[in-house]
Parts: sequence; structure tokens; C-alpha cells
Amino acid sequence: MPIKHSDEYRDAEISKHLANRIHATSTQNIRLMEVCGTHTVSIFRSGIRSILPDTIALLSGPGCPVCVTDQGEIDAFIELARQDDVIITTFGDLMRVPGSNSSLQNERAAGQDIRMVYSTFDALQVAKDHPDKQIIFLGVGFETTAPTIAAAIKSAAQDNVDNFSVISAHKLVPPALEALMGLENVEIDGFILPGHVSVIIGLEAYRPFFDRYNIPCVVAGFEPTDILSAIQMLVTQIKDKTPRLDNAYPRAVTNKGNTKAQDLLKEIFEIADACWRGIGIIPASGLQIRDAFAVHDAAKRFDVSVGSSKSLKGCACGEILTGHKTPPECALYKKACTPTDPVGPCMVSTEGTCAAYFRYHAD
Ligand code: SF4
Repeated sequence: MPIKHSDEYRDAEISKHLANRIHATSTQNIRLMEVCGTHTVSIFRSGIRSILPDTIALLSGPGCPVCVTDQGEIDAFIELARQDDVIITTFGDLMRVPGSNSSLQNERAAGQDIRMVYSTFDALQVAKDHPDKQIIFLGVGFETTAPTIAAAIKSAAQDNVDNFSVISAHKLVPPALEALMGLENVEIDGFILPGHVSVIIGLEAYRPFFDRYNIPCVVAGFEPTDILSAIQMLVTQIKDKTPRLDNAYPRAVTNKGNTKAQDLLKEIFEIADACWRGIGIIPASGLQIRDAFAVHDAAKRFDVSVGSSKSLKGCACGEILTGHKTPPECALYKKACTPTDPVGPCMVSTEGTCAAYFRYHAD
């Protein structure tokens, strides 16, 4: 039952109707994973967990861009910030993510020039305003944000803004789904697929994954009725033993996705292996800047090494991102780790599972 009209998105009667159908259909214990941090927050904020039957467990997956950024990448960002004549530009969530021995916030307090921007074009403007400095944008995120970063790189190339570069730590969702299915002790009966990412890549981008694993998959939007609708479709598929790749967000997601954005991504980036927090290297799950745009690739222009994956002592973010643990199962949760004094990225980010549990979950 995809939701089509704006006044239906948060309609209490439609939500109640969907919840009743889920209760009536759900006869076995199942575990569904939402692979999007925005879904995680929306599920908590709207109280969806509280109206689902006990048979349905919702797991939060590797869908928060800051959270999946590997420790080695965070350390590389900090290393870049320490270089001479550099201005780092970044979205705000990255500032407080702890590296192995510092954070961007600490580096800024120590005098490094690190600026929060709201778009990559703001970062490009900083480069135009400061031709005597090197402006580096920290490229973190999924297929959703990568096209705007590609557009900024293309614009910098066209305008010869040679002091603008990006360090690309982008991640791709479909390979992460494959990696999750290969992990030990991860039991997932169905996926709530990310809405924003799917707007760009389209429903059919998941087809190879679906064909390989034959596991129920439904793309969902972000309003309560969107998510309940996706859950109801998943529960029905599981009960009827008819796995499908379905779209509960047809008002935004098409089969082919945004082909212009896909073309732009292909022009600027090529697919590369990437390291994910909690999972490690996933083949062909990242984007690196093509050689033709090497002048805008901070990884090539600066003496910086992306070290091996490490974990923060005592932090269970890796296990949480793969569905092995929930935040209350981390010994530091609500004790040494809170949103005001976070230990790991899952508590820093507004889309992090630990932050969402802290804010909305009664435990
Ligand atoms: Fe890491 Fe804090 Fe979450 Fe524990 S509660 S997993 S320390 S972010």
C-alpha cells in the first residue's frame, strides 16, 4: 500500500490501519533491517517500534554516513587538517567524531582552519575567496550526496579553481547489503531499503543483490505511513514466502533512478574498494576520483595516508552498524557515552543509532 498523497503521510487512521494489518499478518519472529539513518530516526521519533507486534525486531544497519566512515578515514581527515595553508571544509556531523587521538573539533580548537559548510558549493566559494590557500572538502556519504560533490568537482575543473579538492570517502549501499549477508551471526529476514539513495540509483540497482539472495526488500520513504507500509509489505512477503524487490516510495523512486545524477557520478568518480566501520573492506563499495580530475583529489595531492581500520576502545559502533548489538548492549551507553560527551560516531551523528536510542528509547 504505497502512500501517494501528502495528507496521508502522517495520517493516524492510515497508520492504525497499517499497524492492524501488520499485527494480523505477522505470525513468526522476524528481523528487519533499515539501512538508512534517516529511517532509524524517523522510526524512533514516530514511535513505530511501540506499535509493532513483539514478533518484529527492527535492526539499524550501516546507513548513517558519518558512522560508517572508517576510523582510518577520520584519522586521515585530521592529518589533512594539520597541513600548512589548508582550510578544511566539512558538514557539521563530522566535527565531533573521535579519531584515534583527536577530532576535527579539537584540531579547530588548536588553531587549524576547519569550517562547517552547508553544501559543497559553499566549499567551492571558500576556495574562490582564498586563492592563496588549499581548500579540502571532506567527501563523506552515500549515493545521495555524492552527485552534489561530483557537481562541485566538475565546476571547479571548468572554472580552473585548482585550490579546491575533495577527499572521497563515499560509500555505496548495494555492496554493503551483500557484505551484511556474508557476515557471521547476522540474521536478517528483510531489508527496508533507503529512500534517498534509491531516488538516485533506482529500484533496479538492487536487482543483482535481490536475485542473488532472494530476500524480501522494500524501498521506503521517511514518513510514518511510508515506513509502516514498507513493513507491512515485508511481513506479507515473509509470511507468504514470496520474496520480492518492492517499492513503497513510488512518488520519489523510479526503476531507473536519476540517470543524470548517475551520469555525473560516472564522469567524476570510479568505483573502488572502501573500508566501512564495523565491516572492513568491501570490494567495489566506494568512489574514488578519476585521474582526469586528479588535481581535485586531495588523496593524490596531499601527503596523507588512510590507515587500517581501527576501533575506538570500548565502543560497539561496529557491532551496532551490522545488527549484532543494540546500543543498550554497549557497556558505555548512557554512562561514559552520551550525546554531549560521545565516545563513538553512532552517538555523535544525528542519524546515529546510539543517539536515536538515547533520545527516544525508554530503557
Ligand atoms: Fe560507541 Fe557510545 Fe554507541 Fe557505545 S554507546 S557503541 S561507545 S557510540
